[in-house]
Amino acid sequence: MSQVIESACKVCRRELTKLFLKGDRCYTDKCAIDRRGYPPGQHGQGRTKASNYGIQLREKQKIRRLYGIHEKQFRKYFHEAERRKGITGTNLLLILEQRLDNMVYRSGFASSRSEGRQLISHGHIMVDGKRVTCPSYQLKMGQEISVVEKSRQKSRINLCLDAVERRGLPAWVELNKTNYTATIKGIPAREDLTMPMQEQLVVELYSK
Ligand code: SF4
Repeated sequence: MSQVIESACKVCRRELTKLFLKGDRCYTDKCAIDRRGYPPGQHGQGRTKASNYGIQLREKQKIRRLYGIHEKQFRKYFHEAERRKGITGTNLLLILEQRLDNMVYRSGFASSRSEGRQLISHGHIMVDGKRVTCPSYQLKMGQEISVVEKSRQKSRINLCLDAVERRGLPAWVELNKTNYTATIKGIPAREDLTMPMQEQLVVELYSK
């Protein structure tokens, strides 16, 4: 599980973007970005001119923190994205999207990716009927995520499922709330990923 030392809201404020790290709170007026939309710290409201390197670094940190990935793992994903056919930046985002913890969150079984990671590592999630406890598991098209039978009574999971419409279910996921299953119908296209991400800046940063 990714370790975030700063508080989740400070991470969003540092990146000046809502990263939705705190589940339900992110959809309320308690969201720190809405109340204090400037970087944390004494000089947060001061004017600073970022260098090209600074801009690329912030973008990389934003995407990495959005998905809750350690630097080492993130760099490994980048090299994997480079090896694949197509645009490296898009490949990188697709690898991140296909992680099991992300899909547990996207499907509505968890209110955030970190909660998704916790559900997986505590053994509440199955893929194609087999329990998987590795949050970085890469899902393929046609695979089915489900909640372990004994865990279906968990109020936290049910509350998240009730709230999934507010967040919006991605077009590439088919959710069956009654059976606690979600099927990966396809691989998302770049334009389906609507968070503000400039992945080409990550490519530029790592290509130096
Ligand atoms: Fe980020 Fe707002 Fe959620 Fe805090 S409440 S984690 S600032 S989106």
